[in-house]
Amino acid sequence: MKDLIALAKNNYTRRTGHTLDEIQAVLFDMDGILYDSMPGHARAWKMMCDSVGIEADENEFFAYEGRTGADTINILYQRQYHHAADAETCKRLYDIKADFFKSFGEPKLMPGAKDTVDLALNKNLECVLVTGSGQASILSKLNADFGDAFSLRVTAHDVKRGKPDPEPYLTGINKANTHPSQAIAIDNAPLGVESASKAGIFTIGVITGPLKHGALLAAGADIEVNSMAECRLCLALLTR
Ligand code: CA
Repeated sequence: MKDLIALAKNNYTRRTGHTLDEIQAVLFDMDGILYDSMPGHARAWKMMCDSVGIEADENEFFAYEGRTGADTINILYQRQYHHAADAETCKRLYDIKADFFKSFGEPKLMPGAKDTVDLALNKNLECVLVTGSGQASILSKLNADFGDAFSLRVTAHDVKRGKPDPEPYLTGINKANTHPSQAIAIDNAPLGVESASKAGIFTIGVITGPLKHGALLAAGADIEVNSMAECRLCLALLTR
């Protein structure tokens, strides 16, 4: 792991022109990083589509992970109706999807996530949530599960352009009042990794779902690991 990190830091400097500085902040994605919630989201999207007559495959929603709900609905609309959905339709369909998701019960914490957040807090690093989600039922759980670790949040409501645009992670950097070279981003989806990487942040890609090995490196991750436990080790080595 140490060798991999040295290599990743060199790559980071090559691609951004910055040396990874003393770390001040850690930016955490939510679904698939803090919570093992992606299978539930995919199932809820598929159920919403079935209920309103939109054709979709449950697995396709893993590919949209990180996008805002409106972005995802527009992909479905363009494909089936060849035009975008208006704002009212986006809200209505997203609410249907959110209700299905909520009906599955509370999502489980991702194994190793709490330890990773605790490590960041113990090192006095600012933790920032950077998610494309607007799912109230999971956002409202954060305080119960992580205390006040995530008082700084970037959600679907805070950005004009969602992941893979760099705006969400850049907004997170601003909220933490730091610089991209003084932060680490942790994300599990290719579009999320792309967003963080384009924002100039050292990005740990964590494979926690059905992605193939190397998919997050291809999306721009500086290092790719296979669990949140490995991510914690990586963060420990980067911040000691
Ligand atoms: Ca995610």
